[in-house]
Amino acid sequence: MKITRIETIPVRVPIHARLAIRGKGGMHAVSPFLLVKVHTSEGICGLGEVSATPRWSWEDQVTAAHFIESIFAPLLVGQDPSEVETLSARTRAALFGNTFTKAAIEMALWDIAGKAAGVPVCRLLGGPVRARIPIKWSISGVDPVRASEIAAWALEKGFRTMKVKVGIDAEQDIARVRAVRDVVGAEVRLGVDANGAWDVPTAIRMIRALGEFEIYFAEQPVAPGDPERMAEVRRSVDIPVLADESVCSVDDAAMLIRASAASAFSIYVGKSAGIGPARTIAATAAAAGRPCTVGSNLELGVATAAMIHLAAATHGIDAEQFPCDIIGPLFYTEEILREPLRIADGHADLPQGIGLGVELDDDAVLRFRV
Ligand SMILES: [Mg+2]
Repeated sequence: MKITRIETIPVRVPIHARLAIRGKGGMHAVSPFLLVKVHTSEGICGLGEVSATPRWSWEDQVTAAHFIESIFAPLLVGQDPSEVETLSARTRAALFGNTFTKAAIEMALWDIAGKAAGVPVCRLLGGPVRARIPIKWSISGVDPVRASEIAAWALEKGFRTMKVKVGIDAEQDIARVRAVRDVVGAEVRLGVDANGAWDVPTAIRMIRALGEFEIYFAEQPVAPGDPERMAEVRRSVDIPVLADESVCSVDDAAMLIRASAASAFSIYVGKSAGIGPARTIAATAAAAGRPCTVGSNLELGVATAAMIHLAAATHGIDAEQFPCDIIGPLFYTEEILREPLRIADGHADLPQGIGLGVELDDDAVLRFRV
């Protein structure tokens, strides 16, 4: 089997108005993605997905499509797609950065390998270590009334762990967390995510102030970069500090571990350039006694499936302690998959099909194509 060509399809998918994301990075109401199809000589097609929101994923649909066409396609066409490790290492070496585009290619190669072998990707990774993946809902930085409405909705949907976006305004942050705690009661585990918005003294002050609401973790309280910032926060508070924007690579994880800067890591398929590199980070973290969770850029169904296979097959991802943000498809007004992924009752279920286990709904893709 050989790779014959790589097709890219830019789409923009609207987010439910009530769930539109507001955080330190501003408002987010429509999500741009680049869908990727890796075609082969055997008629098997591998699916991939690039998150293409520059603020979060460093690239847009044009840059991602350009690098696939100009750099990755010449490297990959004519090659055996089942050589996932060799080919993804080549794409990583050919271009600095642009991990989300590399991840789309890598997940498509896994999809092909799984389809060719007649097994789910998770089986190629060693088989599932958990049948269902505990997930948490993410409440955006909206006003307290809307935050409590969203929390009530998430509770009704079966979520028993949630996180609230903070770092926008101290008073509003506290009011938002209070409103959510009031609605969800004492049983729901609640974390906060500042997306790096606080400086060190503010982070320490705010995490202590939020202690009143039984917060069980603080995610990316300070900006990525010097790990010593986060280490100082971690030394000064008594809840776990999660690194998200600070950890994209295994080198980042090693730096954070040496600096004792983070209690746990939020890893992604996109941020780390694929399922394989994300598992390397998880193994590095596990060796240092740090659990991982899986974070999100509100992925559509293809990348969400890749996240589910990653979380299902990886011991180092402690989704029971830190439920994953595998919730992307719930944000969108329409489904792009023929058969939606099952994400309900606070869990994401492993799709049963071969490869990534998902198929695109071509009509839906056409509607959102730009
Ligand atoms: Mg985060």
